[in-house]
Amino acid sequence: MEVLEGVKMNRSQTLTSFLNWAQHKLIQAEIASPRLDAEVLMAESLNISRTELMTYPGRVLSRIEAENFRSRIERRVLREPVSHITGVQEFWSLEFSVNEKVLTPRPETEILVEQCLKALAKNSSPVKILDLGTGSGVLAIILAKEISQSQITAIEKSSLEVARKNAMRHAVADRIRFVSSDLMKTDWKGPYHLILSNPPYIESENLSKCMPEVRQYEPVHALDGGRDGLDFYRFIIPRALEQLEEGGLLAFEIGHTQATALVSLMEGCLGYQDIQVVQDYSGYDRVVLARKRTVNG
Ligand code: GLN
Repeated sequence: MEVLEGVKMNRSQTLTSFLNWAQHKLIQAEIASPRLDAEVLMAESLNISRTELMTYPGRVLSRIEAENFRSRIERRVLREPVSHITGVQEFWSLEFSVNEKVLTPRPETEILVEQCLKALAKNSSPVKILDLGTGSGVLAIILAKEISQSQITAIEKSSLEVARKNAMRHAVADRIRFVSSDLMKTDWKGPYHLILSNPPYIESENLSKCMPEVRQYEPVHALDGGRDGLDFYRFIIPRALEQLEEGGLLAFEIGHTQATALVSLMEGCLGYQDIQVVQDYSGYDRVVLARKRTVNG
């Protein structure tokens, strides 16, 4: 019988002993959240929830379950993101499919959703929304779910397969028009009440300094924002003015050092008002919002 390192030769290789072994391996690999990752991967290997996991600490794993778990831990030791191993990521308390072709949604991106919903609360329906660089589709899908009268266009240069699958899964595929194209080469077909984007914003030369999970496994086209990280903002800000309704909202996620640059890009464009920077729950600048100037504004 094959035995896991650190787990005694024993007929009963329990869930707890496997978790302890995995935690130890992940600590050695300098993974930031070793216990959590081990638990998530265990739950996935056994096809049960994490809560159920806690209920059966003494459960003995079958040989196949043990193999499934072990291979997942080995992938994680090589710094493959948990989301790529499980194929899913939770966002806005919903589950989304992800893979190596799309950026795994980050918790701080929920701030962008919150701010858009807050700003649109007073809009009378229907609301026309454009999501630039939709990736896994999370932003478009959540806005479609939260605003029942919304009509959404979502543009993405690389594969739309994951976004389409997620839209079907959350039953909003009929309300989102997916466009497979480079956002810089497409007619956006406005006007919109809201244009939003979480574009690539990492400075090209800093990509190699990202965590191995990001650097080795996440799609570079979703991360690389050019020399100073601002290429997409520089392109989108003036064009959005042509594609927004009067008083319409432009909303971005930004890197936490980019707020000042973003505000001056928007001010330099002259067509925006009510420019606002919002912090995430860690206190970092994360979202910038502005409204297109109204004739009387
Ligand atoms: N927040 C992501 C990261 O730091 C970057 C996302 C982006 O470029 N839009 O990995």
